[in-house]
Amino acid sequence: MSQTIAIIGGGAAGFFAAITAARRNPDNTYYLFEAGQRPLTKVLISGGGRCNVTHACFDIKKLVLNYPRGAKELIGPFHRFGPQEICQWFADEGVELVAEADGRMFPRSNKSQTIAGTLLHAAEKAGVQLFKGCKVREILKEGSEFVLHFAQREPLRVHKLVLTTGSAPQGFAFAEALGHRIVPPQPSLFTFTISDAFLTDLPGQSVPRVAAELSFAPELKLPRYSQQGALLITHWGLSGPAILRLSAFAARSLATSNYQGRLLINWLPGYTPQSCREFLEQFRQNNPQKSLAHPPLEVFSKRLWQQFISLYTELLPAETLWRTLARKTLQLLAEKLTAHEFSVEEKGVFKEEFVTAGGVERREINFATMESKITPGLYFAGEIIDIDGVTGGFNFQNAWTTAWLAGEHIGVKTAILASS
Ligand SMILES: Cc1cc2nc3c(=O)[nH]c(=O)nc-3n(C[C@H](O)[C@H](O)[C@H](O)COP(=O)(O)OP(=O)(O)OC[C@H]3O[C@@H](n4cnc5c(N)ncnc54)[C@H](O)[C@@H]3O)c2cc1C
Repeated sequence: MSQTIAIIGGGAAGFFAAITAARRNPDNTYYLFEAGQRPLTKVLISGGGRCNVTHACFDIKKLVLNYPRGAKELIGPFHRFGPQEICQWFADEGVELVAEADGRMFPRSNKSQTIAGTLLHAAEKAGVQLFKGCKVREILKEGSEFVLHFAQREPLRVHKLVLTTGSAPQGFAFAEALGHRIVPPQPSLFTFTISDAFLTDLPGQSVPRVAAELSFAPELKLPRYSQQGALLITHWGLSGPAILRLSAFAARSLATSNYQGRLLINWLPGYTPQSCREFLEQFRQNNPQKSLAHPPLEVFSKRLWQQFISLYTELLPAETLWRTLARKTLQLLAEKLTAHEFSVEEKGVFKEEFVTAGGVERREINFATMESKITPGLYFAGEIIDIDGVTGGFNFQNAWTTAWLAGEHIGVKTAILASS
């Protein structure tokens, strides 16, 4: 007997679960309900309209290190359907994914429309019935089946249900009503608001690699976090991969501390205050006639270096020669270059909030099938689960992988049921 499957949420995970299941077992009826008029909105806006589909990291042990929550659970799923497989999947659809120097992978067209169009076409071809502007209001469990209620449609009874509602509160409410615990949702991947004289007038300046360490008031008894990567100075504070990674790994601690903390930036990772002072002394010795305006290392732009000089050399003019610098000045510079302290005041309020930490409790899901361990016939995929990655295509990879597992299991299981 063929079965009726409902997938709630027409984002990356919803489409991929529906396509996978429908290809695996075309005899079932597949309904994909999307609340908005335009499905795949996040696919379309992601990666600045280019869609960062995945990351060119094919070593699963390394890949999972990019997931502050879910790393352990994703090992098995990534072995079955990881970045290699999604690249192949899109290649089979005629879409080549190209890796950039930092590992992020985009469609060769550099247009997210290519990805959205491919998914829409594949879903249609596989016989998935897409309902746009169709918000599910309530889900009730009746025996082994689910009854879906809508605002403008008659209720619908289905055999299996896939929840792919991303970070929508209503999706969490559905999961809760069906017996699941929701790890409280909290933002991840945000910038830090910092007002500091050093950062004034420097927006847009970046450094390719810094070491950043975040700690909190001792009474909070929260762990310390450290990350390395590029740093970007913004109008409101700090951003860039090093900060976004910190915000993701420290998401829960930051929420506990009300987004306040102490940030130490080592602008020269690998150097300690001591070894940096020795380096500066050596530079002074080798370049006695150079003016202070001349940065001792290429990583600093003239503008950024100028800020170090004007704030931390006791107002020495930029024409001052290196040879005249006192030991005390070199010591202060070395300290600021390797342990520059900033106070994080708030999380950035702009659109950098890409994902939500929290969601359906991972322990309540079978990661071989993505089926609920609590409510048989109920599946989860994508951001609704308490899994999130750092920036770079890792969040979409989670959506593809978990959706593929759910779709595959539904397809195979229903085919076996039908033949028995
Ligand atoms: C601005 C931005 C840029 C991003 N860039 C990247 C990137 O470059 N790389 C990367 O890996 N990740 C990126 N992400 C994260 C990535 O977009 C998400 O992790 C991913 O889209 C999650 O997919 P999903 O299908 O689980 O959820 P979503 O894409 O959020 O889809 C959920 C869908 O469910 C629908 N829905 C909710 N409730 C109901 C209901 N009751 N009835 C019917 N439908 C419902 C919603 O309308 C929505 O369309 C970005 C996110 C944002 C916001």
